[in-house]
Amino acid sequence: MKTFDDLKRDVVDQGLCMGCGTCVGVCASGSIAIDYSLDEPEPQLVKDCTECGHCYEVCPGKNAPLRDLDKRFLGRERDPEKEPLGIYRACYKGWATDPYVRTSTSSGGMTSALLNYALNEGLIDGVLLAGWNPDPPYWRCRPFIATTPEEVSMGLRTGMMMVPNNSLIAEAVTRRKLSKIAVVGCPCHIQGIRKLQAHGQPKKFAEAIEFTIGLFCAATYYGEGTKHLIQEFANVQNLDDIIAMDYRGGRWPGSLYVVTKDRKIHWAGSKHDYTWHFLGSASYKRDRCLMCIDFSSELADVSCGDIFQEVGHVNRRLVATLPRTSVGEELLAGARAKGYIELEPHDPTLIPASGMGWEAKKHAGMYRLIQRKRYGWPTPEYQYPLKVTALPRTLTFPSA
Ligand SMILES: Cc1cc2nc3c(=O)[nH]c(=O)nc-3n(C[C@H](O)[C@H](O)[C@H](O)COP(=O)(O)OP(=O)(O)OC[C@H]3O[C@@H](n4cnc5c(N)ncnc54)[C@H](O)[C@@H]3O)c2cc1C
Repeated sequence: MKTFDDLKRDVVDQGLCMGCGTCVGVCASGSIAIDYSLDEPEPQLVKDCTECGHCYEVCPGKNAPLRDLDKRFLGRERDPEKEPLGIYRACYKGWATDPYVRTSTSSGGMTSALLNYALNEGLIDGVLLAGWNPDPPYWRCRPFIATTPEEVSMGLRTGMMMVPNNSLIAEAVTRRKLSKIAVVGCPCHIQGIRKLQAHGQPKKFAEAIEFTIGLFCAATYYGEGTKHLIQEFANVQNLDDIIAMDYRGGRWPGSLYVVTKDRKIHWAGSKHDYTWHFLGSASYKRDRCLMCIDFSSELADVSCGDIFQEVGHVNRRLVATLPRTSVGEELLAGARAKGYIELEPHDPTLIPASGMGWEAKKHAGMYRLIQRKRYGWPTPEYQYPLKVTALPRTLTFPSA
């Protein structure tokens, strides 16, 4: 059996750990914990390893076998050249019908509305989410467990940091005794959950997962990038002065701002624009994210992302929504029937040109992997052949 030492040697010390937290989440003995004292969240051994091997088996850092996982969870292999978004059953633009949920969330509240529906209907007892640090420093993100719609609304909108949501699986199932949970996360979180379900152990944890909502993801960013934006663009030097923060404040798609103890709001970049993203954070993409080739959370039950093109709606709060499994389809149908969400057909060929994320993963990331392999540097294995395929498309950005 592999031990945490093997995981540390083969994944963490090779720079292949994403910080998704799955290793912590499956450790029934509580031997692994996330070390938040470091600049970036990282798993560490906090007591004796029981050598069960689960942490190694479920880790997507070194090995995310997309082909096997496609076959197992989505019913077939994809054609990597013809299916740039992975396998999905439908493509919608959707939104939360509750105006508060629609406007207080990242893109249009699809994710939160689906969770609210699932919690209210008893489909799940809880969900693993990302939120703000409950203790100082308040500008850092942490995972948390929500069991009510009120708690879902306490999650952050889009946290441009790595948040180890999966690290709370054991906490949710064992300590909080939640037997039906959902997980929200970036592609790496979803890969970790699928690996757990495929591994099937610890059984109680694997069987507790009812569904996953995967976010489109260009990358997560080093906390250092956020620090840079706060100090150099929002002009707040003392990070201890911060009492609240938002990466997507103001009008969609939103900007980063912090609130200081004197109740003043400090914007990084001009209000209502997205410049902070390009100004600062793009330079701070986490190295492991640069090696990821999954943009649209290709293994999730439902994938959600922004829509940056003009699509004939005055209200820009719309969510590109891709159900990929029967579980995802039923979730959408149920939430729609109960009035939580609205859906309209969306042209999937628009998605690769929506923002820069698809490009970052499917072309730049793919090419980077090819290069790294050439030099024998550590890389994750994805099973599908690595190939950069031209995809003619038009880049557009909506007027505010
Ligand atoms: C790091 C990151 C990068 C992204 N990049 C892109 C992109 O390039 N292109 C694109 O179209 N969309 C991207 N998205 C997705 C987009 O920001 C929205 O999350 C998505 O459109 C869903 O919107 P919503 O209104 O349905 O979500 P909401 O209802 O606001 O719910 C969002 C959920 O995401 C969870 N969450 C927030 N941050 C994190 C995090 N860091 N890790 C795990 N969970 C988190 C929250 O807990 C919340 O439950 C990204 C999201 C993240 C977190």
